[in-house]
Amino acid sequence: MKPAPKTKLALFKGRIGRWVAKIGAKPEQVYVQAMRRKWASTSTTGRVCFSRDLLGQPPSFQDFVIAHELVHLVVPNHGALFKSLLNAYLGKASSQGGLTLRLRIRRAQRQMR
Ligand SMILES: [Zn+2]
Repeated sequence: MKPAPKTKLALFKGRIGRWVAKIGAKPEQVYVQAMRRKWASTSTTGRVCFSRDLLGQPPSFQDFVIAHELVHLVVPNHGALFKSLLNAYLGKASSQGGLTLRLRIRRAQRQMR
């Protein structure tokens, strides 16, 4: 038998790790789990949850959601500081994701390209 390829989950977790380093955020715990209504959530206690459905999404969208949640560890709201930080980290992808932001990353957006 061939060795198992790196799973989508492992790749996604690696992506989270790179964003944690880049943003300098310090999540207490990170989960990837089934979530029915959102792509991700961040609690005030530093617990960050990502929807398993993200594993089937394009890397650019994964980056957007990961960066969004990790910036919330620094800025809890969606105010001007939040937007400028996200913009700094994501550049063009930030404006692309702006639509998603307004819709609060609802699962209905999964068809978006
Ligand atoms: Zn948010």
